[in-house]
Amino acid sequence: SQKISEKVVDGLREVFQSGRSRPLQYRKQQLRALHRLITEHQADIEQALKQDLNRNTYNTSLFELISIENDIKLAESDMADWAAPQPVKKNLNSALDDVYIKPEPLGVVLIIGTWNYPWAMILQPLVGAIAAGNAAVLKPSELSENSARLMKELLPLYLDKEMYQVVTGGVSETQELLKQRFDHILYTGSSVVGKLVMEAAAHHLTPVTLELGGKSPCYIDKNCDIAVACRRITWGKFANCGQTCIAPDYILCEPNLQDRIVEEIQKTLLEFYQKDPKSSPDYCRIINTRHFDRVLALMNECTIALGGESDRSQCYIAPTVLADVLPYFKIMQEEIFGPLLPIVTVNGLSEAIHFINAREKPLALYVFSSDKTVIKRMLAETTSGGVTVNDVLMHYTVNTLPFGGVGKPTNKT
Ligand code: NAD
Repeated sequence: SQKISEKVVDGLREVFQSGRSRPLQYRKQQLRALHRLITEHQADIEQALKQDLNRNTYNTSLFELISIENDIKLAESDMADWAAPQPVKKNLNSALDDVYIKPEPLGVVLIIGTWNYPWAMILQPLVGAIAAGNAAVLKPSELSENSARLMKELLPLYLDKEMYQVVTGGVSETQELLKQRFDHILYTGSSVVGKLVMEAAAHHLTPVTLELGGKSPCYIDKNCDIAVACRRITWGKFANCGQTCIAPDYILCEPNLQDRIVEEIQKTLLEFYQKDPKSSPDYCRIINTRHFDRVLALMNECTIALGGESDRSQCYIAPTVLADVLPYFKIMQEEIFGPLLPIVTVNGLSEAIHFINAREKPLALYVFSSDKTVIKRMLAETTSGGVTVNDVLMHYTVNTLPFGGVGKPTNKT
């Protein structure tokens, strides 16, 4: 497979160097082809996700395809601005000269993605790579194997296969790819593998963009509509069975709110997934037994307030809420990435802020409050990759905002 990787990358580099992707017209045409791929094959993509994660049809569009489509639209409309030379302030010596920054394609980029949103995690970075005029090797996760297979089959039917190629496979294929020289690597996944990617990139001095995970706290203030807060948190936490990088990882609240929160989540769960979430068409599965065992083990020390049932043969874990979780429990040491929602009690806002700041900076942070000073303080006194106030996940949907984390995540998965 070393030979194969080498051949793929050398081939793409040669075509890139021919200048084929320099004209914006070419890039737009590729983006439109990508758009056709996801629209004409939406049903096939839905089918693959059903097999990979038991994802229902409605959520495929909502969680996977709309964001790709929006990125394509944004790139198409703004690409000319992005690619245009930007004049800069001049000094006395250059007052009569043309002085500007000229954005240029980098070359061949490698995109490595995860299994939790197998299409968005590969195709969204691809939109950026195409818009910037780069050639790309796409490496979808082997764990979402149906999606990976379908992507490999469909991409060459729509995109220029001399510029964009899918390489499937697991650890050894990815490691072979990483031995090659790329001009940029975009990696989404766990921090353990992130380190390996950075190490491999260092060998060629290749710059990397790491999209990692982390624990995303959710503070519920006493001054807020608790029912609405719980409804939104329940949606964001249990969608995709908790396997979302910016899912609320845990709740922070004052002790006297805990029972009410559990009650409201219970009501919402019943509405969303009925009495038996296992037979709900809207409830996903854990990706594989390795992750199933890992998530289940996180429950060990905890008091189950809701859920807790599981079935290994189906990789099913019920939507679960854990009460009175203590900071030193195992579940608080790593990203959960599953349908377990711990509640940690704190005495008010200052303690919540202190709790958050005593840990690695969150990928996402959520605060529910109707008190503007609470929101202001939370924003002023904490740092995270992104924040949504009085809702969850929403900052991800605004594609004019940047997305990503800050520093090293709490993440052992
Ligand atoms: P994964 O197991 O699918 O691994 C990710 C990629 O790394 C895959 O393509 C895989 O083939 C490759 N890989 C795995 N082991 C490797 C090795 N030893 N050497 C080289 N390559 C290897 O996915 P995962 O790591 O379980 O992903 C889950 C993590 O990703 C979570 O922490 C989640 O929060 C994070 N995530 C972050 C974002 C974001 O945008 N920040 C989005 C989605 C997921």
